Amino acid sequence: MHIGIAGAGLLGRLLAFELARAGHSVEVFDPAPGPQAPASGPGTAPYAAGWTAAGMLSPTAELESADEHVFALGLRSLDLWPAIVAALGVPVELHRRGSLLLAHRGDEGAARRVVDLLQHKAPSGHAPQHLDSAALRGLEPDVHGVAHAWLLPHEGQIHTVQAMAALAQAAGAAGARWHWGVAVNRLQAGEIHTPQGVSRFDCVFDVRGTGARPAPTDVAPNEGFTPQVRGVRGEIIWLHAPGVALQRPVRLLHPRHRVYLVPREGGHIVVGASEIESEDRSPISLRSTVELLAAAHSIVPELAEARIVHTETNLRPALPDNLPRVEQRPGLVRINGLFRHGWLIAPALVEQTLKNMAPCSVMESSSPPVIPDLIRESRGDPGHINHRPGPRGMDCGSSPQ
Ligand SMILES: Cc1cc2nc3c(=O)[nH]c(=O)nc-3n(C[C@H](O)[C@H](O)[C@H](O)COP(=O)(O)OP(=O)(O)OC[C@H]3O[C@@H](n4cnc5c(N)ncnc54)[C@H](O)[C@@H]3O)c2cc1C
Repeated sequence: MHIGIAGAGLLGRLLAFELARAGHSVEVFDPAPGPQAPASGPGTAPYAAGWTAAGMLSPTAELESADEHVFALGLRSLDLWPAIVAALGVPVELHRRGSLLLAHRGDEGAARRVVDLLQHKAPSGHAPQHLDSAALRGLEPDVHGVAHAWLLPHEGQIHTVQAMAALAQAAGAAGARWHWGVAVNRLQAGEIHTPQGVSRFDCVFDVRGTGARPAPTDVAPNEGFTPQVRGVRGEIIWLHAPGVALQRPVRLLHPRHRVYLVPREGGHIVVGASEIESEDRSPISLRSTVELLAAAHSIVPELAEARIVHTETNLRPALPDNLPRVEQRPGLVRINGLFRHGWLIAPALVEQTLKNMAPCSVMESSSPPVIPDLIRESRGDPGHINHRPGPRGMDCGSSPQ
């Protein structure tokens, strides 16, 4: 099949890699100047949120703001990532050592609320496990000053910058063609419109993240859900702290905000992230910097001498319910709304979408979406399905009940 992809962010790169290695002829369009990490700073043009993400693969911790569909997709993706990374041909840092939830003594009430919620929502075997101080010291000797700790044993992390670069390179090696510096103005079933003209395909994937929203001046606004896409500002800070030996992502449960530290190779630690209802891409604010770094220092005092080497702001593509959606019709597939879970769920979302490629032919899809199967497997509970597929496609979002 001849396939056009609008957007070379996380989803675009993963789709290009999977489709090209499955033997399809793939072309990808993106306004970014090239496949490499953007030079960030004031005035930088919008670029993929995939670059900015901390790369936590945290199905249980994310249950605080997500639902069982995201959880199920996350668990499946945790199983898929190792094979994807192994097929990329270059090293990409990927670990599955669990993650920690931490709280200071005065914040026990707020922390308990989160832990109780996760215990209620997570299937058995995935609930937070309480750690005493000796167990915490054994796992993370550089963490100090916290009174409460819980282990989420099944969680992981991926180095997003390495993975973004490796996916583009491997997709290109498998035959995908990249059209860098080319924004998609419009698209519809089987067609991608750019300033250079109209390109025709058997199937078009719209994975433009926040760029999928039609411009206010668009005379033929996109139908479907894309007009509802919004960006949610997130700010992160990269520290260089070669003397600090964190083994896994840690999150501080604080009454006012969530702060996480994600260790990366080379002695780096990503501290994140704010979550602000704004599409402002300007540099990180003083307030976010103070809150994030004060929280990080309060649980890892050794960070006092860390160097701040990089800060970054980007927008998470989100839909009104903050849940992902896949919309399929003949010749057109739209995926969006990955919000704060893109790296957590993208492999499973792509796997399920490509299993259901019938919409790419001229016939309406006859095979039902298979997301609920994942939920059954993850919960071990065949009766517990909260899903109402729409008439024409698959909706990974939960329905209000
Ligand atoms: C601060 C921060 C921290 C995060 N941390 C995590 C985390 O720890 N774990 C996790 O799972 N997720 C995390 N995320 C979320 C994750 O990054 C996103 O969910 C994911 O990147 C969404 O993937 P996407 O492909 O839909 O969009 P993107 O990665 O944003 O890609 C969209 C692409 O579309 C392109 N595009 C835009 N307009 C056009 C156009 N007109 N024509 C063609 N192309 C266009 C863009 O240039 C871009 O390349 C985080 C995000 C942020 C901002």
